[in-house]
Amino acid sequence: MDRVTDALARVRERLDAALARAGRPPDSALLVAVSKRQPASAIREAYAAGQRDFGEGYAQELRDKARELSDLPGLRWHFVGHLQLNKAKYVAPVAVLVHAVDETGAARELARRAPGPLRCLVEINAGSEPQKHGVAPADAASLCRDLLALPGLALAGLMCLPPAGRPARPFFAELRALRDSLARELSAPLPELSMGMTEDFEEAIAEGATLVRVGTAIFGPRPRAG
Ligand SMILES: *Cc1c(COP(=O)(O)O)cnc(C)c1O
Repeated sequence: MDRVTDALARVRERLDAALARAGRPPDSALLVAVSKRQPASAIREAYAAGQRDFGEGYAQELRDKARELSDLPGLRWHFVGHLQLNKAKYVAPVAVLVHAVDETGAARELARRAPGPLRCLVEINAGSEPQKHGVAPADAASLCRDLLALPGLALAGLMCLPPAGRPARPFFAELRALRDSLARELSAPLPELSMGMTEDFEEAIAEGATLVRVGTAIFGPRPRAG
């Protein structure tokens, strides 16, 4: 078996087992294969093995790969990188879900450029790390209100990237609690929780993740940029 095909099968097995342990239905979480800095050939391999959802982290790379792989029907692109205002134009035409919106300006630009209501998530700076992207939990309600008012966007939930080197699970539990309280406060459903990567996606499933973003476990180490 091909390396990617084999690795993908193992990740799917782990995902199914984690869902079963959590008492969740088998298809209640979506595996997003994070292919940033990986060649188009690796994406073709995963696609041939049945994978349809792919995540990219750099806007121009997403634009270029979407062009290069436009012959693959049903392939869905997720943008998992930090959304910058001047790059929204590359993301809006091709993405089905933008995982990491953290300010109104970039969101407005995304809404303006989107061909139809574009699903997006708000990134929460779960560990309150000053160098990290994402909005502070205390500011999330206000940003969510702004996004809910934009007709070009469909706010669907929250995303986080917990601090490195610390147990991730408490941050996943906090994200879920924050989602629950925002959904009540804003009377919006917010069904999606994008959390969990190669190191911790099983813990994220245990805390209710509906989208896990897995790169290394599927594609191997990322080639260096440039
Ligand atoms: C790169 C990246 C991932 C994938 O990380 P792995 O550890 O390789 O699974 C997930 N989410 C985001 C936001 C990323 O930038």
